[in-house]
Order: sequence, then structure tokens, then C-alpha cells
Amino acid sequence: MQCDTVRKGVNCSFMTKKGCSFNGGLCLTVIDRCQGCNRTSSFEDGLYCLVAANPASKWNRGDCNFATHIDRKQIEESQKINPLKASKRAAAIKK
Ligand code: SF4
Repeated sequence: MQCDTVRKGVNCSFMTKKGCSFNGGLCLTVIDRCQGCNRTSSFEDGLYCLVAANPASKWNRGDCNFATHIDRKQIEESQKINPLKASKRAAAIKK
């Protein structure tokens, strides 16, 4: 449903017929780490994320998975690989 509070006109899963169901009824503005992301958009009340109602929560456990301004390759290389799972995955692909 389309938002009619802060991100007017944007489709949002938190919007209901009774109004915004997000915590407090309003989205939160982007944080410093969102600077440069293509998913930010400027509205009357400030700069908001188009996909996350609370951008700070997207950065709580590492990098935001929707961010467009960070290098994904670098993130993938830094992730730990479980050798047992990797061999099972490789075996499944060969079948
Ligand atoms: S997608 Fe992530 S990085 Fe981009 S604006 Fe939203 S919360 Fe910030």
C-alpha cells in the first residue's frame, strides 16, 4: 500500500488501511553510512531509505544487504567458508 505519512507515494509493506503500522507510525531517516546509496530519496521531512523503515537497523549486524554503494566482492571474500558445507555443495552441483 502507498505511504501517506513521510514517504508519500512509495509502496510500503507497513502501510495499512488504518495507517502506518511501523514502530511509532513513522519511518526513520537514513544514517551516515547510507550516504551514496541509490536507495535513498529526499522527501519533505528529510532523506529516507526506499526499502528500509529503520536504516540504522540494517547496519546493526554488518553491512546493509540492500546497499548499492559498497563493494559486494570484498564482502564475499571476507566471509568464512565452511569446508564441509563447501564440499557438499560442490558434490550436489556435480550430480
Ligand atoms: S538500502 Fe541500506 S544503505 Fe541504502 S539507504 Fe537503505 S538502509 Fe541505507
